[in-house]
This record gives sequence, structure tokens and C-alpha cells, in this order.
Amino acid sequence: MISLTGSDTLFFWRFAMAERIVIIGSGPAGWTAAIYAARANLDPVVYEGEPSNIMVPGGQLMYTTEVENFPGFPSGVQGAEMMALFKQQSQRFDTRVLTEDIESVNFSSHPFKLKSSEGTDIEALSVIIATGARANWLNLPNEQRLAKTGGGVSACAICDGGLPGYRDKVLVVVGGGDSAIEEALYLTKFASKVIMVHRRDELRASPIMQERAKSNPKIEFKWNSVIIDVFGDKIISGIRLQDTINNDETDMECGGLFVAIGHTPNTSFLGDSLELDDKGFIGTRQSWRTATSVVGVFAAGDVMDPHYKQAITAAGTGCMAALEAERWLVSKGLD
Ligand code: NAP
Repeated sequence: MISLTGSDTLFFWRFAMAERIVIIGSGPAGWTAAIYAARANLDPVVYEGEPSNIMVPGGQLMYTTEVENFPGFPSGVQGAEMMALFKQQSQRFDTRVLTEDIESVNFSSHPFKLKSSEGTDIEALSVIIATGARANWLNLPNEQRLAKTGGGVSACAICDGGLPGYRDKVLVVVGGGDSAIEEALYLTKFASKVIMVHRRDELRASPIMQERAKSNPKIEFKWNSVIIDVFGDKIISGIRLQDTINNDETDMECGGLFVAIGHTPNTSFLGDSLELDDKGFIGTRQSWRTATSVVGVFAAGDVMDPHYKQAITAAGTGCMAALEAERWLVSKGLD
């Protein structure tokens, strides 16, 4: 029989009191991590976030209407319904869910320390960060109204562009980066014409993407232009453009608007606790791994992925993060 000294007891007590795995975020990555962690008997707790004016629990899919490209839903599924199903599946294995934000973290000692928006101090042996990213919007009132009601305004052509409402229409893409071009090229499969609206006369995108867009007969460019209003009651009918050189305003009819002006990862609560890239995305130590610069902290989903940004890839990295966290806990005897 092992006899414990006072300091040993304190040591074991602290580790026994700490959560084995805390998952921050409740999109496809967070819920998938929870399903895997719960089925591995790690008793995960998910901080799903508090509803606010910029984000709700469930993340970006809560603002998506029909999801047609997530395998397993042959007739499509509403984004909010899909997130409810993910959550339900994680709770089937007794995942605990708290509707709170994690407001700050301290990864400088182990167990890690987290503080919730309710003021609770949490200790965690491992952490999975799956707080996602939010699409940047133009923040025009009618843009936001139509985006939230499935009225033909979207920040993801790959998610929404194939929907019947966009077929054979003139579609507008705003932005001049690789994402905007990727979206415009994708939309040419469905649209009668794609008009790229960019605020300068030079694209930011890589040369090869620029070349692809410029040589596509279905893509036209509207240079030196910003969108200052969006028209339409239930469905978009057009946009108002302003010329950035002479301030002239013109109206243009269209059947869809795709905003592709970048994403902002939800990482501000992390401060400088781990390594982020120059745009604020969490860096992982190796490609095809989710371990971050802090041993015992893992990242999954759009918060670490500026490239694919799909629900299915987020779910995939959520699975990877849970498996890596489990293996790490086992290797340290902390499971
Ligand atoms: P990005 O490179 O930051 O480009 C954002 C674009 O939106 C820029 O052209 C910017 O204009 C414009 N913009 C920003 N705010 C605006 C506003 N308020 N109004 C109007 N226009 C606005 O973002 P991204 O295209 O999402 O790409 C992110 C990263 O992922 C990049 O590193 C990119 O190379 C990479 N990526 C690669 C691929 C690929 O290789 N196939 C595909 C997608 C993304 P300015 O140019 O005037 O600043």
C-alpha cells in the first residue's frame, strides 16, 4: 500500500478536482470532440458559449439555412437543426454542457486555469479550443437581415451556392482575395454571370487564382467599388454601389450576394497564452495534428483552419483533437 505524505495528497487532490477535458466551443468541431471524449469515458464538459449579438451557441451554422453538403443528410438539413442533433448526440454519452463563455485562460501552469463568464474558476488537465471563426460582413442593415433569413445573402458560396434559388441568376461576390475568387469560380457552375466587386483595381489573390478568374468568361469585375446598400424584401433584388474614386452611386440587379472579405477567428480570449498566426488563427505544431504550442491544449475547427472552413472538416478535426487529447492524458497517466 502506498502511503501519501501531506504534499502528495495535495498533489493528487488537485489533479482529482480538475476536469480531465474542457471543450470550448459548440460548433461541429466542439460537439464532435465531445462525442469522442465522452465515449472514451473522459467525462467532458463543453462551454458552449453565451448568446450575444455576434455569436450564438452552435456557431456559424446557426446562421445557415439549408446544409446540403454534410454527408448523412441526403435531403439536406437546416444548420440549427444539425447543431441541435450534434449536441444531442454528445449528451447521449453524458457530456456536460454549460451555456457560458470562457473569458480568459492561464496555460502557464498545469492543471490549466480557465475563467468562465459566470466568474467560475475551472481547472483542466486538457483543453480543446473549438471556438470557430466568424465571417466578416459589410455590416449593412439589409445585408444582415437577408443573410439571417436565407434571403440570398451568404458568406459561404460552397455552403449555399448550389441551392436552387441561385440557379441561372446574376450573382455578386464582394472581395478580392483567394476566397472571393474561389467562391466566384464555384458559383460559375450555377450562375448565369458572376460579378466580382472589389474596392481597389488590383486583386489581393494569388496570381494563379487571379488568372483563373480573369480567364473565366462568366466572371466580370467591378473595380474600385464598394457596396453601400442591399435591396430586397424577402429575397435580394439588387445592390447599390459606390465608386471609390468619384463617389458616384449606381444600382445593380442581382439574385444573390456572397460576402468573401475574410474571417476573424474567435481567439481574443486567449491573449498570448499560445501561438497564433498573424491573422489570429491558432497554429498547430505539425500539419495533420491538433496539438498547439502548449502541451495538453488542442485546437479544432475554423479557429485553427483558415483554409477549408467547412462543417465536415471542422467535425473531422474535432475528432482528431479528442483522440490526441485522450492519448496525451493516457501517456501522462491523467486519464
Ligand atoms: P484576405 O486574403 O484577407 O482577403 C480579403 C479581401 O476582402 C481583400 O481583397 C480585401 O480587400 C477585401 N475586404 C476586406 N474588408 C473589406 C470590406 N470591408 N469591404 C470590401 N472589401 C473588403 O481573405 P481570404 O480571401 O478569406 O483569404 C484568407 C487566407 O486564406 C489568405 O491567406 C488566402 O491566400 C488563403 N486562401 C487560399 C485559398 C487557395 O489557395 N485556394 C483559398 C481561400 C483562401 P483589399 O485587398 O483591398 O484589402
